[in-house]
Amino acid sequence: TECIGILGGGQLGRMLAMVARQMGYQVAILEPSKDCPAAPFANHHITKPYDSQDGLLELAKLSRVVTTEFENVPAASIRLLKDFGCQVYPDENSIRIAQNRGNEKSFFRSIGLETAEFKIINNQDDIELIGTDMFPAILKTTTLGYDGKGQIRVKDLAELVVAYQQLGGECILEKLVDLAYECSVIVARNQTGAKCFPLIENYHRDGILDISYIPANLSADILSRANNAAISMVEALDYIGILTIEFFITIDNRILVNEIAPRPHNSGHITIESCITSQFEQQLRAICGLPLGDTEVKIPGAMLNLLGDVWLDNRDAFAKLCADSNAKFHWYEKLEAKKARKMGHLSLTGKDRLLLEDKVMKLKQSLNFI
Ligand code: ATP
Ligand code: MG
Ligand code: MG
Repeated sequence: TECIGILGGGQLGRMLAMVARQMGYQVAILEPSKDCPAAPFANHHITKPYDSQDGLLELAKLSRVVTTEFENVPAASIRLLKDFGCQVYPDENSIRIAQNRGNEKSFFRSIGLETAEFKIINNQDDIELIGTDMFPAILKTTTLGYDGKGQIRVKDLAELVVAYQQLGGECILEKLVDLAYECSVIVARNQTGAKCFPLIENYHRDGILDISYIPANLSADILSRANNAAISMVEALDYIGILTIEFFITIDNRILVNEIAPRPHNSGHITIESCITSQFEQQLRAICGLPLGDTEVKIPGAMLNLLGDVWLDNRDAFAKLCADSNAKFHWYEKLEAKKARKMGHLSLTGKDRLLLEDKVMKLKQSLNFI
């Protein structure tokens, strides 16, 4: 049987591996942590660093196609895998863009898409040049941030100076956007074409994704603009695989691109229950050269992230979560529950959006994390 190689072994790798196994593929992961979430579903687990030559050679020998479940793969690793004869999707260029918020935003603008106003900051001198019209703003490290980590909100120049002292290195200052909504498009592209999943509506809490709904309850105009943006992005990148695009919808109805992820996405977990094809199956179809699956919504759904906080405080949380006869519970088997760590998620489906929202709120209240 054919073997799929995955760089990384977190929950995204786990869910991708589960589907790959279900489809009859073998799975090899390169992930230093022995007890990672993907390990139980891997036929081969290479417990070496992502930039280990030996590890990469081993992965390449096992797999014809290699993909990644996180964007911070060293570019050199992707090149090595190609030298060793593997197909690697997505490619180095796309991953390099997604690794750096500055590259990302310049790329979006270069293909005519709007972003929040931004300035790159490399030292205290760059701060001198920032005009007062850039505030309030968020200072973010250009690399390695996720779940709102490496971000500080600043309301004026004085606060920016302090924030930059904390973060240092290369940062990006983004003007705060007046958000009406946040949403994401998950788009897949293979050698023959591209296909989007229906728009997903996202709610964050403390910088971390909290709840997602599919389909988004937004105007047809927003839907088509977001889809067009997603398609032009994968075409411009000549992309193969799954790409997720996060959008800000402003109160004056502009659609700004926030960031991209060159992989399946937390907001797309609900496709498992709600869509004909899940984002993970679609990823495999795209990278294996199979026809893309149908993406339409069979039944609307909501996804609720379960963070470590809940598991630290609620010993009986599992029973509460499963009390709803419609709930689908996903657990990532992380060894230790930490505050704000994504431990699992819960999916609910139903035709009536208001009823879904009501169920989500009740669940959150029952867990005391609202
Ligand atoms: P992720 O976990 O999605 O990778 P991240 O750490 O890369 O998150 P962002 O997506 O840039 O961070 O920001 C996290 C959240 O913070 C956004 O979803 C949004 O709610 C808020 N946010 C970020 N930038 C802005 C902005 N310029 N204006 C308003 N809100 C913002
Ligand atoms: Mg991000
Ligand atoms: Mg984000």
